[in-house]
Amino acid sequence: MDIMESFSDLKLNSWIVRQCEAMGLKHPTPIQINCIPRILSGEDCIGCAKTGSGKTLAFALPILQKLCEEPYGIFALVLTPTRELAFQIADQFAVIGKAVNLKQCIITGGMDMVQQGQELSKKPHIVIATPGRLADHLESCNTFSLKKIKFLVLDEADRLLAGGGGFDKQLKIIFSALPRIRQNLLFSATITDTLEKVKQVASNKVFMWEAPAE
Ligand code: ADP
Ligand code: MG
Repeated sequence: MDIMESFSDLKLNSWIVRQCEAMGLKHPTPIQINCIPRILSGEDCIGCAKTGSGKTLAFALPILQKLCEEPYGIFALVLTPTRELAFQIADQFAVIGKAVNLKQCIITGGMDMVQQGQELSKKPHIVIATPGRLADHLESCNTFSLKKIKFLVLDEADRLLAGGGGFDKQLKIIFSALPRIRQNLLFSATITDTLEKVKQVASNKVFMWEAPAE
């Protein structure tokens, strides 16, 4: 049964398993069990499971593992719809990433643009951003480049991609600054009418996992 899986069964390095244990996590959740090995093997991934099901670590753990295999420049970009979610994601990356001196940078509204520009120029490993503020930076300064990222994560992908959500123009600016070849990880509590849009962001070959209905 899924519930008996351990983090070490998911091809995660022992330092990550230790960090999970130190956080008090005993078993990976279903979305983690299903998505982590696929992400580690290089696949694009769409994961759908309700709020609170552990989606953040489903992408954060494999990204941190890959980061340690080839650390350079800005490695992963995580987009999320709200400032609050950006900070929550950063907290989880920080807990696991402290074992490897992870440098991350949060780019959301309500913070000093100049200071953010400086932080971006220091080549953090992970940038966690809301689309509006990141688009502002891409349009206004050239202190950093996203051209070499390996991972694009859309957290709450349906909210980011839903038309009328106001993110369309900003996402266009951001996507045009990214390399064409990258690993796309899309996570969401719901994937409804945005499924086609979600699939467009990922490559043709995408692993999709949706939590079974309860
Ligand atoms: P989601 O993004 O699916 O809404 P989160 O990734 O924010 O959910 O996780 C919700 C909470 O569950 C967080 O506090 C997180 O630390 C915790 N969590 C994540 N994975 C596990 C796990 N394998 N076992 C127990 N708790 C976990
Ligand atoms: Mg989440």
